[in-house]
Amino acid sequence: MQLPFFMPKRVLFEERALAYPLGKKLWERFRAEGKEIRTIGSHNRVSGLPGETPAQKFRSAKETLVVGVRKTLEFASCRPSSDFQLVMSTSCPGMCEYCYLHTTLGARPVVRLYVNIDEILSAAAAVIDKRKPAVTIFEGAATSDPIPLEPYSGALAKAINFFAGQEMGRFRFVTKFSAVDSLLNLEHRKKTEFRFSVNMPEIIRRFEHGTPPLEERIRAAVKVFRAGYPLGFLIAPVFLEDGWREGYSDVLAMLRKEIPDADPSFEVITHRFTTRAKANIEAIFPASALPLEQEERRFKYGQFGYGKYIYLREEMKEAEDFFAEEINRYFPAGNLLYFV
Ligand code: SF4
Repeated sequence: MQLPFFMPKRVLFEERALAYPLGKKLWERFRAEGKEIRTIGSHNRVSGLPGETPAQKFRSAKETLVVGVRKTLEFASCRPSSDFQLVMSTSCPGMCEYCYLHTTLGARPVVRLYVNIDEILSAAAAVIDKRKPAVTIFEGAATSDPIPLEPYSGALAKAINFFAGQEMGRFRFVTKFSAVDSLLNLEHRKKTEFRFSVNMPEIIRRFEHGTPPLEERIRAAVKVFRAGYPLGFLIAPVFLEDGWREGYSDVLAMLRKEIPDADPSFEVITHRFTTRAKANIEAIFPASALPLEQEERRFKYGQFGYGKYIYLREEMKEAEDFFAEEINRYFPAGNLLYFV
């Protein structure tokens, strides 16, 4: 199944964005398509979206594209995935029940793209220069899944081209989506690592609404591998429910079968939630079957100043050993970058 192109129901333009060529181009495009468009003063203040219940408000936010100008040209830390976040968009049209953005974006996560990509990349160049001779790695998916927005923004293509020319800069991003064709023929010079988020098919079906199934993501990964990009897989969030060992082993076996010659990186993130995310999830998805019982978890303070509920120590140890062994079994040349 090929997911349809992301088609927002309404597009809100920050006034300043219309001074940029991409802002103008998108305004003309959506106007010609007869889309509901209007200007707003700030991309951070979006009001008047339809919806009464939290679920309706969430859905209308996900159907709203905001075209804005990124003011902050400083880069937040992004451990353990990279040195810094490279924010070119926020949110995404997917509706994963456990989306990592429930904590940071709240209950109305409008989809936002920034038109000043050149300014953002110039600021990244200055950071790379300043940190030489160290290699500086930027993460392009810290606040968004960037693939669904690519047909509108072209931001990933710009970033991939930019990093291809950076001796000491690297770029990496992760996606659950499969519309990768426009990026396959770029001159990436292996400076961009292209990762796919994968999970057990049953987990994707139950919780990752509006995203492609595992087989489709793997087909996209095969294309990316053949295009010569460094390839990676993010196995997340890992659920330690009945049958998890067999389920995740099957996922690794599928990857191995389709790309036997690859030596991908792996990142493994176990399921966790914050109090704020839990409240949002229960409001937006009242019938959610996600395991969100605090009593069954361990509370841990995180790097961004809020705590989260993670699996118990012994469960984590067992899962860490399992993934280290299984990844090594299926991909002896692969590399487990971290398990959290
Ligand atoms: Fe969130 Fe990623 Fe799912 Fe989009 S695809 S809703 S960013 S978890």
